[in-house]
Amino acid sequence: MSDKLTIALSKGRIYKETLPLLKQAGIEPVDDPETSRKLILDTNQDNVKLVIIRATDVPTYVQYGAADVGVAGKDVLMEHGGEGLYEPVDLKIAKCKLMTAGIKGQPAPNGRLRIATKFVNSARAFYAKQGKQVEIIKLYGSMELAPIVKLADYIVDLVDTGNTLKANGLEPLEHICDVSSRLVINKAAMKMKHKSIQALIDSFAAAVK
Ligand code: AMP
Repeated sequence: MSDKLTIALSKGRIYKETLPLLKQAGIEPVDDPETSRKLILDTNQDNVKLVIIRATDVPTYVQYGAADVGVAGKDVLMEHGGEGLYEPVDLKIAKCKLMTAGIKGQPAPNGRLRIATKFVNSARAFYAKQGKQVEIIKLYGSMELAPIVKLADYIVDLVDTGNTLKANGLEPLEHICDVSSRLVINKAAMKMKHKSIQALIDSFAAAVK
């Protein structure tokens, strides 16, 4: 790869599931972010670096060109809005569903619904499409608690196995969308570093197949 490339990734599931795709593209990190405190990781290729940041910050780093390329969940991209980004490949990793959930067996309340979520934009769009007036309450975590303590009627959250909901006496209700991680590219970098980035896109796309 001739151009300097910075790739933004988040720790945990996305990092682990992106590693084999990077390897297929000939990129192998020198350090392990789970054990290293470094935020910038060198790779076996001198001109390719990885920056390890929070999942919700990946689209922002790529939008402003602080990273040329990144891997971000569709949930995070929908909240960010996708400005300044290309989203050329669905990597089909870190799969889950964005769903509404409420207390198991509880009938729907009358009147305006209160919805607790960190996915404010996706939740608002979902209820607007149904023509429902809702009050959205922004939370940063542990959404499952909100209906139990009557902070909200429902939550909008990511569901994988459903075990977290179940353990808290909640049940999944409506399916909002499927979520998986996407390769995202800074629009300017796509032009300036076209050859290197196109090679990375092609390699990731082939590895997904
Ligand atoms: P589960 O109990 O398997 O349904 O997982 C639900 C919990 O894991 C929720 O707290 C979610 O926020 C989180 N979660 C599940 N899948 C993902 C994913 N692909 N990306 C980020 N968080 C996830």
